Amino acid sequence: MMQWETVIGLEVHVQLATKSKIFSGASTAFGAEPNSQACAVDLGLPGVLPVLNEAAVAMAVKFGLGINAEIPEVSVFDRKNYFYPDLPKGYQTSQMYHPIVGAGEVEISLEDGATKRIRVHHAHLEEDAGKSLHEDFHGMTGIDLNRAGTPLLEIVSEPDMRNAKEAAAYLKAIHAIVTYLGISDGNMAEGSMRCDVNVSVRPKGQDTLGTRAEVKNVNSFRFVERAIAFEVERQIELIEDGGTVVQETRLYDPEADETRSMRTKEEANDYRYFPCPDLLPVVLDRAYVDHLRSTLPELPAEKRARFEGELGLSPYDANVLASSRAMAEYFEAVKDACGDAKQAANWVQGELSGALNRENLGIEQSPVSAAQLGELVARVLDDTINGKAAKQVFQALWNGEGESADAVIEARGLKQVTDSGAIEAMIDQVISDSPVQVAQYRDAEPDKRGKMIGYFVGQVMKASRGTANPQQVNALLKEKLDQA
Ligand code: ADP
Ligand code: MG
Repeated sequence: MMQWETVIGLEVHVQLATKSKIFSGASTAFGAEPNSQACAVDLGLPGVLPVLNEAAVAMAVKFGLGINAEIPEVSVFDRKNYFYPDLPKGYQTSQMYHPIVGAGEVEISLEDGATKRIRVHHAHLEEDAGKSLHEDFHGMTGIDLNRAGTPLLEIVSEPDMRNAKEAAAYLKAIHAIVTYLGISDGNMAEGSMRCDVNVSVRPKGQDTLGTRAEVKNVNSFRFVERAIAFEVERQIELIEDGGTVVQETRLYDPEADETRSMRTKEEANDYRYFPCPDLLPVVLDRAYVDHLRSTLPELPAEKRARFEGELGLSPYDANVLASSRAMAEYFEAVKDACGDAKQAANWVQGELSGALNRENLGIEQSPVSAAQLGELVARVLDDTINGKAAKQVFQALWNGEGESADAVIEARGLKQVTDSGAIEAMIDQVISDSPVQVAQYRDAEPDKRGKMIGYFVGQVMKASRGTANPQQVNALLKEKLDQA
C-alpha cells in the first residue's frame, strides 16, 4: 500500500469590523433591509470615486503586526475584472501584486498540547461582493448589494498544514487573533469569516506538491474538517484507480457531506488585473505603524505561554483558557479575585463551562459573573464552605437567587461547620441512632472498614445539611468507631 501525505493551504476571508465600507460611507451593519446600504460608490455608478477607509488599513496592519509579518511601506489596489450579477461594477477592488501585509507566522496548538508554526504568505485588503438570493423568489434570483464594498482581509497561508485537525486549528488561531485584536466579530454563521480550502495529496517522502483542488467558501470549523476528509479520500481513490487530480474549484455541500466540481482550470476566468486608477498607492510611514504596534493587546500565543509559564497551568488548560479574549479575561478576573490560578482554571473549565455548554451559552452570556465566581472560589479556599456547598452556591448564583457568594452562603446557612464540638455531637447522635451498622463495622476486618465508614459520613453530612467539614467528619468518625 502506498503511503499518502495530505497538504493543505487556506485562504481565509475575514470581514473587518469597520462601521462603514472600505471605499464608501455606507453602513456595514448586518441584517438590514436588502439594498438599503449600498450607495453610488458600492454600485460603481459613473462619475463616483472611492475613498479608502483608514480604519480598514489600521485593522489590516494590526493583523500583520499580530502575526509578526513584514509591513511593506507601499501597497497597491488592483482591479480584478469579472462579470457576475452581484458585482455591478464589473470588477472587485483587491490587492494582487503589492498586498498590505507581507510574510508572517501563526502558531497553532494541537490537541496533544504541541504547537506548530504555519507560515502566512501574505494578507491583502479587498472589498466583498453582493449576495444572490436564490430561495426568496420563484424562478428568479434576488440581488442584495448591502454587502458590496464591505472590507475583507484575505489571509493566504503557505501549504503548511498536513491534516484536517491542523487546518481547523489554524482557522481557530486566526479567529482568536482577529477577535483579540477586535478587528472582526469573527461570527462565522453571519459570514464574517469564511475560507477557501486548498487540498492535495502526494506520496509520502515526495518533495513536489500534488495537484490541488480548491474548496470554496467553507464557513465553519467542522465543515473545514469534513471537506478535507472528503477531498483526501476522493483524491487518493482517484489516483489509486489510475486517474489524475485536476486543478479545479469545488464546492462543499454540508447536506450531502461531499465536495462537487464547480469549474476546472480551463474554465477559470482571466481576471486581467491592473492597478486601480481611482486609488492612490497606500504609503505607511513608520511612525504610524509603530503607533499601531503600541496599541496591540497581549495575543493568544503570548497569553498561552504566560498561563503555562507564570501561572503553572497545563498546556491543555492554557490553550482552552486563552482560546478567546472573553474566556481569558473571565478566567483572569476569577484568578485575581480568589488568588489561585489552578482553582480558578478548574472552576471556569469545570462547573462554569459545563453549565454554559448545557445551555449553549458563550462565556459573554454567563449568568454568573467573574467577580461572583471568584468570591465563591475564595470561600472554598479559605474553608468557609466545603465543595458540596460550593456547588449549591454556584447553582444559586446561576439561577439568580443571590447577589454574591457570601450572600448565598449567609442566607442558606451553608457556612462549613469546623467546630469539632458541634461535629462530635452530630457523630454521637448518628452512632447512637445506628446500632446495627455500628456493630457490623466493629465486627468487620480493619481493611473492610474504610468502605463501611461511608455510610456514617453520609449520615453526619446529612445531619449538618452538607455543611460539616468532610475531612474532620472522617477523622472524628474513625476515632470514635474504632474505639470499641
Ligand atoms: P491561487 O491564487 O491561484 O488560488 P496560490 O498559489 O496563491 O493560488 O495558492 C492559494 C492557496 O493554495 C495558498 O493557501 C497555498 O498555500 C495553497 N496551495 C498552493 N498549492 C497547493 C497544493 N499543491 N496543495 C495544497 N495547497 C496548495
Ligand atoms: Mg485562490
